[in-house]
Amino acid sequence: MSMKIRNYVGGGWRDSSATETLSVTNPATGAEIGRVPLSTSRDVDAAVQAARAAYPAWRSTPAPQRARVLFRLKALLEEHKEELARQLTTEHGKVVAETRGEVQRGIENVEHACGIPTLMMGDTLEEIAPGIDSASWRQPLGVFGIITPYNFPVMIPLWFWPYAVATGNTVVLKPSEQDPLTHQRIIDLAEEAGLPAGVLNVVHGGQETVESLCDHPDVVGISFVGSSRVAEIVYRRAAASGKRVQSLGGAKNHMIVLPDADMDLAHEACHASIFGSSGQRCLAGSVIVGVGDAHGAIRERMLDSAASIRLGDGLAADTDMGPVISAEHRDRVNAYITQGVADGAKLSLDGRGPKVAGFDGGYWVGPTIFEDVAPDISIGTEEIFGPVATINRADDVDGAIRMMHGSRYGNACSIFTTSGKAAREFRYQAGISMIGVNIGVAAPMAFFPFGGSKQSFFGDLKAQGKDGVSFFTDQRVVISRW
Ligand code: NAD
Repeated sequence: MSMKIRNYVGGGWRDSSATETLSVTNPATGAEIGRVPLSTSRDVDAAVQAARAAYPAWRSTPAPQRARVLFRLKALLEEHKEELARQLTTEHGKVVAETRGEVQRGIENVEHACGIPTLMMGDTLEEIAPGIDSASWRQPLGVFGIITPYNFPVMIPLWFWPYAVATGNTVVLKPSEQDPLTHQRIIDLAEEAGLPAGVLNVVHGGQETVESLCDHPDVVGISFVGSSRVAEIVYRRAAASGKRVQSLGGAKNHMIVLPDADMDLAHEACHASIFGSSGQRCLAGSVIVGVGDAHGAIRERMLDSAASIRLGDGLAADTDMGPVISAEHRDRVNAYITQGVADGAKLSLDGRGPKVAGFDGGYWVGPTIFEDVAPDISIGTEEIFGPVATINRADDVDGAIRMMHGSRYGNACSIFTTSGKAAREFRYQAGISMIGVNIGVAAPMAFFPFGGSKQSFFGDLKAQGKDGVSFFTDQRVVISRW
């Protein structure tokens, strides 16, 4: 059944004024499950006006009461966790164990934002001069726009909007047009939890919708997550109209394995990092660098385990890896593989064109491994965002770090070693924001900042945690003499 997707404005589901719609499909079958409108600037304005109207009353709702709405939402999300996870698999494709993990990571952000009365406290100091005291107050700013990608459509909106509303702002969310259905259910749960009309609004669409949000004079800030190309465009465009912006982009993550590593642990972590979610994670490992003798050991294990991955419907218990998001994305990943071969890289496992019995319409790419990839060809430099690994060799750890520094991205990296000194040196030298030591997916939990460096991040304050609270508030300093 194909669902007509509506915008959520001022506490109700409303038809978009869009004349164009896009198909939302189940990536395992290719069947249409919804049609999403490409909303216009008129729709964006209606949502912003609803958010603006709701702001004064929501801002003056005491922080503990705002937190209680989130407490109720957390309980509802837990109650509906399995339903949300299964629905998410049908529109994203990843296996249900992964969608359960995603919903859990989203819940943890709601849980953390429940602490807003403490998180939002300011600072005080008496006697800054004779008889004079000073205090800072964190205050909300108004209407925020939040724009999110397809790869974590439940969790990534929850990196932002719980903090935005907990701090007393109101929100217009623009979810990914590729898999917008599961978050619709979360909006219903937020309404059930008692979030007042207009505090959270949703406008579906693509480029024009995003541009309208970036340009809108009544939007005070933008949180964006997506590819680096669009992250930079959004960063520049929203900043040009005077907004504060946090804009998270793409990645090409290196995993360095030293000869003294626990090789089984390193292999398990690299395998899960590279092939989990079919490689569609900003924290996915992409380039394994085996140092010295570690190269042969990790290479052999990776080639064995990758070849045994079972592709299939993410809802089936025996599936290891689901499809990628769309036919277009499958073709893009395949084109990178073809280009890698043309550029002279050694293709040791070819994932192009696999067949999955009973799922002929699905968007399948099998596990793929390249070796000896030159640092300047597209497969070595660009984000593929599919189940494609590169295994390279370095003579020593400095050579491995140099390889990593050659990337224009700086999202995540990992080192596998039993040497504390080597791990410490790696942390010191990496210049990358999310670092795993014997960890394959270095995902900061809700109370730590999430975001990268270099071309992986544009801005200052990152997602989640204290950074999230700072991004959605301004510190107002009062100096008093009585
Ligand atoms: P995308 O950049 O194509 O889309 C992201 C959002 O931007 C969507 O809502 C989309 O509608 C909108 N958009 C697309 N093109 C636009 C344009 N030209 N102008 C304005 N808006 C536009 O990204 P995606 O394919 O949905 O998601 C995958 C990307 O997101 C990967 O690059 C991945 O690394 C990145 N990502 C990064 C993080 C992080 O924490 N840094 C987390 C998740 C995903």
